Amino acid sequence: MGLLALGTALDWPDAKQQAHLVRAWGIRQLLEIWNKAKGKERDALLWGDEVEYLVVTYSKEDNSPVLLSLRQADILKALADDKSLSAKGGCVPDLQHVHKQNEPLPVFHPEFGRFMLEATPGKPWGIEFKELLKVEPDMKLRRCIAKDHMLPNEYPITLTTFPRIGSPGVFTDPFYPVSGPRLRSQFVPDEIANPHIRFPTLAANIRARRGRKVQVNVPVFRDEKTPWPWKDPTVNYDLHNWPEDEDVRSGGAAPDNFIHMDAMAFGMGSCCLQITFQAKNVTEGRRMYDQLSPLGPIMLALTAATPVYKGFLADTDVRWNQISKAVDDRTPEELGEKPLQSDRWQIPKSRYASNSTYISTDHRLRPEYMDPNLVIDPAIKQELLDGGMDDRLATHFAHLFIRDPIVIFNEDLQELDLSKTDHFENIQSTNWQHMRFKPPPADNSIGWRVEFRPMEIQMTDFENAAFAVFIVLITRAILSFDLNFYIPIAKVDENMETAHARDAVLEKRFWFRRNVFSQRVSRSSASGSNTPTGGVSRPPTPFGPVEDEYRLMSVNEVINGTAYARESQDGRGTKRTWDGEEKEEEMVEEGDEFPGLIPLVESYLDSVNVDVITKCELATYLDLIRKRASGELWTAAKWIRTFVAHHPGYQKDSVVTEEITKDLVGAVIKIGEAEQKGTGFGQLQGDVPDLQRLLGDLRS
Ligand code: ADP
Ligand code: MG
Ligand code: MG
Ligand code: MG
Repeated sequence: MGLLALGTALDWPDAKQQAHLVRAWGIRQLLEIWNKAKGKERDALLWGDEVEYLVVTYSKEDNSPVLLSLRQADILKALADDKSLSAKGGCVPDLQHVHKQNEPLPVFHPEFGRFMLEATPGKPWGIEFKELLKVEPDMKLRRCIAKDHMLPNEYPITLTTFPRIGSPGVFTDPFYPVSGPRLRSQFVPDEIANPHIRFPTLAANIRARRGRKVQVNVPVFRDEKTPWPWKDPTVNYDLHNWPEDEDVRSGGAAPDNFIHMDAMAFGMGSCCLQITFQAKNVTEGRRMYDQLSPLGPIMLALTAATPVYKGFLADTDVRWNQISKAVDDRTPEELGEKPLQSDRWQIPKSRYASNSTYISTDHRLRPEYMDPNLVIDPAIKQELLDGGMDDRLATHFAHLFIRDPIVIFNEDLQELDLSKTDHFENIQSTNWQHMRFKPPPADNSIGWRVEFRPMEIQMTDFENAAFAVFIVLITRAILSFDLNFYIPIAKVDENMETAHARDAVLEKRFWFRRNVFSQRVSRSSASGSNTPTGGVSRPPTPFGPVEDEYRLMSVNEVINGTAYARESQDGRGTKRTWDGEEKEEEMVEEGDEFPGLIPLVESYLDSVNVDVITKCELATYLDLIRKRASGELWTAAKWIRTFVAHHPGYQKDSVVTEEITKDLVGAVIKIGEAEQKGTGFGQLQGDVPDLQRLLGDLRS
């Protein structure tokens, strides 16, 4: 979360009045940076990761429940005051060697939840392969430093969500009663959000713009003894605190068989793993943005880690749609529930959603790949075109700028400052798509960047490092082999939905491009047919039907290739789902062979000069990805489900009790500590006895 300016934040009706001005100034600032930076060349291929943590209070010795600690500000202050971050001396010795050569120490940032922290490396990683090996020790060091600036009973953990956030009773430390004026939630207090005025204003203005509370409904997982139809027992259907309570009383906001949540914290309180790349120039950045986009849903399914909400097992495995709903500020008119009167257009997606644009100048980008439902602001597009931006990129920003700014500080409206990008960033940073195209800052000091945002945070640093490294390597393979992953945006959207299913990584198939090596068409053969049409150049040579370019594949096939997938699938015969159900389904069809992303990365590594030791270490990361895709190793979501199912306190009724939650968090802490000491648990096994041993240890 960038932007932490101080000032007087406008409440909704006032902010709405200024939305047009902020957009106008934001576009002026964007054009300023565009014209300054469009010719920027030879920036270094830097990259960086972001890891988000929940902070919990936990003590094994007594009967107290595990709680979310709301001491974010104190912890950040303790970290900032410790100029040398001297506590790194207290971190296990083999982590220190990384920072021996005076490398900058990790940086900690605030996040939406008052129980969250974010940590990034002290400076972005460089292009050399040996940099990839610094990531895991650095992530461990970050966790260790964070822990050293907490109370003895506080822990940073990398679960995506706290299993009992919003459950009845106490779940925060300290306790606050629910139903504050900002969130007006039935389930969480206003104090759950970072108290910096930006965050409560963001939540309140989203609610106000929408005209009602956000509705985050997640299908509940139906277990043997789950009452059916299921009514969320934590919902008060007869509340009269706020006008918005009527939505639940009579408006159907909390339907049967869904876990009902009603506040931004249920979404933006989730933790993820993000990777940002700097491209050598704007053209390469635009290409990276497009090519990484179709990988989003695949990586979401592979990193699935979110099977519990508000004390219940959900029937979905990932966080994405829940965040999308938790910040959906669309009005009834924009949602198409009422005819357009005061709003300008119907908008098909939340401002937190999968991408709606491709932006590259690549000739392989066919008009048919573009989103047929794309909404843009034509006046803004025209202004960008007049200001010197090309059609395709102007279309992208004219799409982002259909949104209103949510948080506006009065002090920033005095005059337009073209030496800043604050108004541009206001709109840009509240368009939470799964890829983000980041222009250079106003001073043009760094290059064009692309951020990959769909991945869920993993419980261990080994896993987080593995996914970060994998994304870096696949990006290098894309650039080196000029790979082509294009499929229509509508298919990427569909894949994003598919990724939500329970165990989608093994159970579902995703649209993916058949031939990733398809030839780039040279400009010289284009015979003058490069005229832009709707932002997309006409292809210079005839292509076949778009539908022939892609087909459904399992994640195993996408990641490991057709041959490997067929073999590993046959090896296992009928598939066993996590709850023991046997299921027979042909996941790999006869037909065209797909090489697999891991084999592509391996060919890339073979084509460059990597020393044997580095290659071996990288292989351990690739192995994790390979085995996740084949089902040999579990996703965190499956691990958590299995943990709950085997807990003696679980009644097979979908309820994740305080006691189960405490043991689950205890297990996560124990895994983290073992990883810090280097005594195991780098990855979650696909193994019930292993998990039972851990559970036994915790309860002894
Ligand atoms: P945001 O929260 O807006 O995505 P952050 O400041 O938290 O941005 O950092 C994003 C990541 O980008 C960090 O890992 C950081 O190290 C990395 N980063 C910073 N500068 C560059 C750069 N020039 N090129 C690539 N990555 C960078
Ligand atoms: Mg963040
Ligand atoms: Mg960040
Ligand atoms: Mg980020």
